[in-house]
Amino acid sequence: AKTSGRSTFCFFEAEMDAGIQKRRRLEIDLRQAIAGDEFEIFYQPQVNTETENVVGFEALVRWHHPDRGLVSPAEFIPLAEETGLIVPLGEWVLRQACKDAATWPKNIKVAVNLSPLQFRSPLLIHTVVSALGDSGLTPCQLELEITESVLLTDSESALATLHHIKGLGVQIAMDDFGTGYSSLSYLRLFPFDKIKIDQSFIRELGTSKDCAAIVKAVVDLGYSLGITTTAEGVETPEQLDRVRRHGCTEIQGYLFGKPLPVSHVPEVLAKGQAA
Ligand code: C2E
Ligand code: CA
Ligand code: CA
Ligand code: CA
Repeated sequence: AKTSGRSTFCFFEAEMDAGIQKRRRLEIDLRQAIAGDEFEIFYQPQVNTETENVVGFEALVRWHHPDRGLVSPAEFIPLAEETGLIVPLGEWVLRQACKDAATWPKNIKVAVNLSPLQFRSPLLIHTVVSALGDSGLTPCQLELEITESVLLTDSESALATLHHIKGLGVQIAMDDFGTGYSSLSYLRLFPFDKIKIDQSFIRELGTSKDCAAIVKAVVDLGYSLGITTTAEGVETPEQLDRVRRHGCTEIQGYLFGKPLPVSHVPEVLAKGQAA
């Protein structure tokens, strides 16, 4: 192949075109998918660390693309966020998750992810109220997961939104804690019920003294602030043992179960309650 500057340039240009093409294609497909019926929610169990009982499920959206099969949310959520399509998609997830959870035992919660764009939407509160009303789900069975990034800009209106949600009786979790520009003072300023410690810290619990120290510090801080803690991405008995010793309230991870279609929930519950 030629290695002149010109051909290299053309090569990159072509590459970039392919990237843009692919992105456009995905955007068109995403619009159709929302109009059609191509999404499904998978549920991943959340387990009490001490009792090992299932206490809730996180709703994780899946896209069954007609040609490409299952597309990972890591691929389409960022695009949905950029294009604003996350708002209708997120509303669908919230409504469907509330409907599903309304058929579960009253002590089992459902956790739904809220994207920053959804969180800032003036329609959010209305959507939450209407999703609860239409499904008949008890508000305390619903937990909304937000990332710290939503607190960075316009923290005053973010605080007002959080108080409004809490006022409905809905719980709030801070997701992926430790990956952004978290400030510990956020935990005091904003009314969180739960901190989800990002899986990157859990993964290195056995190999990094720093990670272990951070997890312990977050759990202890949560404890003194009355905020429960969840360890994300627990995959091994060793990791479970460590988060248990640090005093994490709940765990979520492949060790206890992967995200599965809603039809599997009763079976997971039957197992998880007997344990
Ligand atoms: P997240 O909210 O941090 O969700 C946890 C992710 O970790 C999920 O990936 C889950 O399948 C994965 N996971 C759980 N346990 C383990 C484990 O033990 N090991 C490993 N390696 N991974 C584990 P998933 O389902 O692919 O979702 C990726 C991200 O996409 C989510 O991260 C969330 O940010 C976003 N997402 C998914 N569904 C929604 C949604 O309905 N709305 C919004 N706004 N975002 C969503
Ligand atoms: Ca989450
Ligand atoms: Ca997370
Ligand atoms: Ca994440």
